[in-house]
Amino acid sequence: MTLSPAKEANRLSVILDTFHQMHGGARYPVDVEALALECASLFQLPDPVVRVYAADVKGFEGGLFRTGEAEWSILYNASLTSPGRIRFTQAHELGHYVLHRAGQESFQCSTQDMLEWTKAEKAIEGEADKFAAYLLMPLHDFRAQTAGDINLQILGACAARYGVSLTSAVLQWLSHTEEKAVLVVSRDGFMDWSCASEPARGAGAFFATRKSTIEVPSGSLASNAQISHDKEGVTVPANVWFPHAEASMPVREMKISADQFDCILTLLVLPRGADVWPPRDRFWVADR
Ligand SMILES: [Zn+2]
Repeated sequence: MTLSPAKEANRLSVILDTFHQMHGGARYPVDVEALALECASLFQLPDPVVRVYAADVKGFEGGLFRTGEAEWSILYNASLTSPGRIRFTQAHELGHYVLHRAGQESFQCSTQDMLEWTKAEKAIEGEADKFAAYLLMPLHDFRAQTAGDINLQILGACAARYGVSLTSAVLQWLSHTEEKAVLVVSRDGFMDWSCASEPARGAGAFFATRKSTIEVPSGSLASNAQISHDKEGVTVPANVWFPHAEASMPVREMKISADQFDCILTLLVLPRGADVWPPRDRFWVADR
């Protein structure tokens, strides 16, 4: 039986909502460790998670292991320093416990599995990431936090509310927004990776960073070394980023330089009606 990551995370969110309505206390960030230890009794499962602990696991971000006849342990890398990464890792491993423990006795998860969680290579890794995202940033609450025009200030406040990294908050927003928006993470003038919202992909606004090396365009805010942060964003011509965009089309570009990771995070938001595919007649010419 395949379980839906979003649905399973939502079952836990409903319980947490109810608990906090009755007992007060801080609903966010989610205390994943406490929830993992409670999970089996909440759902009357015979094989609980009995411990969540930091361990020295080189090369891995975290893991879930069957450590007894009917018990499991979650561990996370002791060298993880940011509380956001620890929380996301714990939630990812709880995701494996809820979704995948029937099929496997041990899960070891790499940094890559956690980072690019919208396109993790193994299906179960992507599912555990999705579970973690929905558990830590439930959509009903996320939508309420991001009701107006979006910018990196607001998404930064979401990251703080949910106790996750800014990247995780941006990815969760991209996963459900109706805006045509693209996240670009770049290093030394080249795109490291990128993620586009579904409407952006439909409009041709995305970057295939796995297939080719793509330079950060000159004329963009991202390439401007004088400005390291602009969370509200500036308007630049869309064709700076998307060569096929009409000359008059604007794109709002926001920027944060993450010095500790030595990278630049860029968020692009196109007008809702934007279409940046190459002109159709060029396809026709190519077909002939
Ligand atoms: Zn995993």
